[in-house]
Amino acid sequence: MNKAVLVTGGAGYIGSHTTVELLEAGHQVVILDNLCNANREVFNRIEQITGNAPIFIQGDIRNSLTLDLVMQLYPIHTVIHFAGLKAVGESGQQPLNYYENNVHGTIVLCQAMQRAGIKRLIFSSSATVYGEEAPVPYIETLPRGKTSNPYGTSKSMVEQVLTDLYKADPEWSIVLLRYFNPIGAHDSGLIGEDPRGIPNNLMPYIAQVAIGRLQQLSIFGSDYPTQDGTCERDYLHVVDLAIGHLKSMQALDSAGIHIYNLGTGQPVSVLSMVKTFEEVTQQPLPYRITDRRAGDLAAFWADASKAENELGWKAERTLKQMIEDTWRWQSNNPNGYER
Ligand code: NAD
Ligand code: UDP
Repeated sequence: MNKAVLVTGGAGYIGSHTTVELLEAGHQVVILDNLCNANREVFNRIEQITGNAPIFIQGDIRNSLTLDLVMQLYPIHTVIHFAGLKAVGESGQQPLNYYENNVHGTIVLCQAMQRAGIKRLIFSSSATVYGEEAPVPYIETLPRGKTSNPYGTSKSMVEQVLTDLYKADPEWSIVLLRYFNPIGAHDSGLIGEDPRGIPNNLMPYIAQVAIGRLQQLSIFGSDYPTQDGTCERDYLHVVDLAIGHLKSMQALDSAGIHIYNLGTGQPVSVLSMVKTFEEVTQQPLPYRITDRRAGDLAAFWADASKAENELGWKAERTLKQMIEDTWRWQSNNPNGYER
């Protein structure tokens, strides 16, 4: 077997799209996922799209024996680390679970990498690490700020752990990718976002209202200091984000901590997302305005010029494509991967 990429959390939303891009670029892929937030049907779909199957190991990143075995069995040269818990609200109720999965899990993973002599890592971080008071647009030269929930704090803590790891052993090359708001789906309509229970995020909520699984969208607040009073975010297509991971692999060729924002640089309000969704899909989208959601920031978006200048990466897909692809995925799979 040729050298392989280990993708933790590769059965999930962003991991599955990245796996497709990796396979299509000719990489061997080994996925480690405990399926706590994924469905194994995704592997059939990946094979349908690429004509190729990743190797799948069902297991947990917190289990060092599993990790040692995977790293002994397969010639892994790089780890792309998506595995973790990501629900902001839930993280406030289950802080220990979040720190255990996201922080402890990453430490166990890095210890296994160290034992195996693998020192190339790409980590899924988030724009949330800029904190509550950073000026917009967010740029990588800003310091990490004060996070408002255990999920965000776990991402910031992992960034610190990885920075210290590199300081102690300068042979490591580590990429910290700070994602903005990924939405959309593969244009085949075969893979997409399939949240368990009621979605927390805007786009899957909208898609489930449009398909009739949910009655109406609640827009959390219309009195923010933004153009139309609703919050603004930087939504990017998940396939652009997946491609960002491939492009960032080149940064691993030099040791160091390499930080990149991945976003479009364009803020979009909740209300304009709703209107554009209605226009593009011709589906009515009932909504009401409710109170603000605790912890939401009014507006943030990326300065993504560093990724463009250094990696040649730029988000290419338009908001219309993001919505069309979400809608294709949702209408072909009204119940997600559950048939
Ligand atoms: P996801 O929940 O769809 O994927 C995460 C995957 O990791 C799931 O398949 C889950 O089963 C697996 N997993 C969780 N804990 C595990 C463990 N202990 N061991 C093994 N597998 C485990 O989430 P996603 O949206 O694809 O996000 C991927 C990564 O990107 C996460 O780290 C997330 O925090 C980060 N991120 C996501 C967003 C977003 O908006 N989706 C934004 C910024 C950062
Ligand atoms: N949002 C909303 N209704 C929902 C879900 C989200 O109005 O049901 C808003 C939310 O207040 C935020 C934006 O949509 O301004 C994006 O929210 P999401 O949770 O998707 O991303 P994040 O807040 O993490 O950037």
